[in-house]
Amino acid sequence: MKTFTVQIDRKTIRPNPNAGMPVRLMNVESIGQFTVEDDFNLEFMDSRIALVSRATSIDRNEGFHATFSYAVQGMSFDELSMLANAVRRAFPKKTTFRIDNTIHALSHIAMPVPYLYEYKERIVQCQFCARKFSHTELINEYDYDFGGNQVEIVNACPRCEVGNCCDVNYESIESVMLQQAGLPRMAYIVG
Ligand SMILES: [Zn+2]
Repeated sequence: MKTFTVQIDRKTIRPNPNAGMPVRLMNVESIGQFTVEDDFNLEFMDSRIALVSRATSIDRNEGFHATFSYAVQGMSFDELSMLANAVRRAFPKKTTFRIDNTIHALSHIAMPVPYLYEYKERIVQCQFCARKFSHTELINEYDYDFGGNQVEIVNACPRCEVGNCCDVNYESIESVMLQQAGLPRMAYIVG
């Protein structure tokens, strides 16, 4: 059976921006709490509250000093940090701010590849019906045999639908990188 090599299109090779990040940190929920204690008059305080209009709850204790406590939910860590800075600017005398962060780490199933790339077009030929077609038309799927068992169909011809109609070798990115690094030709396969 003839082997058709599908080459990587060198022009499409680019670094994967997610490479080297096997674990993705995801900030699912942040709860910010801050307390403002100052001797501003209440009207001034109220005018400043517009800055923190996303606060979901506000407790206010009025005395010689006015104390405001805010709890903010459903914001990202970055949003809360910006809010904290805005509050510090609005109430410069005494502000405490705490962010309780819930960080969830999502592990990738596999380490992201360092490079992204696409394969070149390659015409292959079915050894059974002699049809010529693009390698992208090869059919790979699961089917059931007469006994009801699931069987994997690999490289089936789009015309006669017989599996293993040709042998396809996909060039590996590793071999291309070796080639581009000037390493010996024997280290990679060229179709
Ligand atoms: Zn065929």
